[in-house]
Amino acid sequence: MEIFKYSASISKEISSLKNHGISFGFVPTMGALHEGHASLIRKSKSENIFTVVSIFVNPTQFNNPGDLEKYPRTEKEDLKLIEDLGVDFVFMPEISEIYPEKDLRIFDFNGLDTVMEGQFRPGHFNGVAQVVSKLFKIIQPDKAYFGKKDFQQLAVIRMMNKKYFGNKNIKIVACDIVRETDGLAMSSRNVRLSPEHRKSAVNISQTLFKYQKNNKNYTVNQLKNLVTKEIDADKNLKTEYFEIVDNTTLKPVEQIIPGKTTGCIAVFAGDVRLIDNVSFS
Ligand code: AMP
Repeated sequence: MEIFKYSASISKEISSLKNHGISFGFVPTMGALHEGHASLIRKSKSENIFTVVSIFVNPTQFNNPGDLEKYPRTEKEDLKLIEDLGVDFVFMPEISEIYPEKDLRIFDFNGLDTVMEGQFRPGHFNGVAQVVSKLFKIIQPDKAYFGKKDFQQLAVIRMMNKKYFGNKNIKIVACDIVRETDGLAMSSRNVRLSPEHRKSAVNISQTLFKYQKNNKNYTVNQLKNLVTKEIDADKNLKTEYFEIVDNTTLKPVEQIIPGKTTGCIAVFAGDVRLIDNVSFS
């Protein structure tokens, strides 16, 4: 496994290998790796000759400075996991390497970035697009792997890829959500939960699963009210939003269309903000 800190050196190495017909899969991460990240890496390994993982805690996607400061950093353990998984290249740049300039680019995602996460985390997706577009230019992968856990992020990345990288032909691969055995979606933020909040957090996915299964008995508005009410009945949890949206436009729907509709939620468990989603069929 080779670790790179500089864009120029990893770009050069990759282009030369690509000239020899080596295919590249790319898994961007912010570190504090868990089984969710590992599943993306395994998928990339199974579909490409070489796999590149980036570890970069991207400051421009944090609208809350406290959240950035508290973001878990576990570099040593991350590198061990990545090496055990057989990753070829790791890209771990400094902030100045990714953001040498002061002025940042403004993207236009036709409103995909202003609902749900975008409404409560203004500028978040512009920051995500900022970093992913820079990483795509540096790595120039054949395929890039993203988790459905960040459902809205996936929609934004797909649009960014189509709009800004159309001619580069990078294939975006969506990977299923990996969950703890009790159903909680794995997240780097879970380590910040107190034991009491960790126990409560299971109610998020369990409530989503319950209404995913019984969705045909309710209207969309009833589902939204019931999910929010049941989660907030736990004094350790506070729902920020629960929206039922069209998979492509991310616009709220009035009726569930099987296979085309997803329920997306953000919940505070104490001061830890968790997101999850379920697709309705
Ligand atoms: P992050 O390090 O949180 O930026 O996540 C890096 C990538 O891993 C993103 O594409 C996430 O969607 C994905 N990811 C994070 N958690 C999970 C999970 N529980 N299951 C599947 N993918 C995940």
